[in-house]
Amino acid sequence: MLDSAAMALREVLQFPDPRLKRKSVPVGRVDDELRALAADMIDVMYDEPGIGLAAPQVGQAIRLVVMDTEWNDEENGPGKNPMVMINPEILERDGELTWTEGCLSVPDFQAEVERAARVTVRYTDLEGNEHTEAAEELRAVCFQHEIDHLDGVLFIDRISRLKRNLYANKRKKALKLEQEEGPARNTAVAESAQDSS
Ligand SMILES: [Zn+2]
Repeated sequence: MLDSAAMALREVLQFPDPRLKRKSVPVGRVDDELRALAADMIDVMYDEPGIGLAAPQVGQAIRLVVMDTEWNDEENGPGKNPMVMINPEILERDGELTWTEGCLSVPDFQAEVERAARVTVRYTDLEGNEHTEAAEELRAVCFQHEIDHLDGVLFIDRISRLKRNLYANKRKKALKLEQEEGPARNTAVAESAQDSS
């Protein structure tokens, strides 16, 4: 039986959806609508599963991000501890690292991306409290990846043009195949309808 909560999950937009390229606007105020969106995004993040999700990935061009970089760490078992970040911004970047990244909006692909090794981030939470956090490793990468989404930037925009084009072509072919399979079934249905008339 289908769970009604699962059925209500918001869809994650996928490359090359143009809505992923939009620059998001700052959140003006925290209201019920924003709280509901953040809750929905947390559900989607755990369901996919992912460790972060930005509002533009569910079609909302506002500067809102949810993250939980540790919940799937079974060895330490910290459980779910979702973090909601409103208007996050990177105050400082330091050092360099290369990380293999993937993205819920970029299906079937991973690539090495060069990022700052350490970042200091400032954001506001749902209660209106301002936070400043210094992060490194995975957490630093996740902050940079998610904040990029708010500026319409995907991790594949930060790899070589050659690798990006290879992926874009592969993705186009996959989507074309999906489209071709769709109308083919419709034709079959139309034909059988004709036969019966
Ligand atoms: Zn992403």
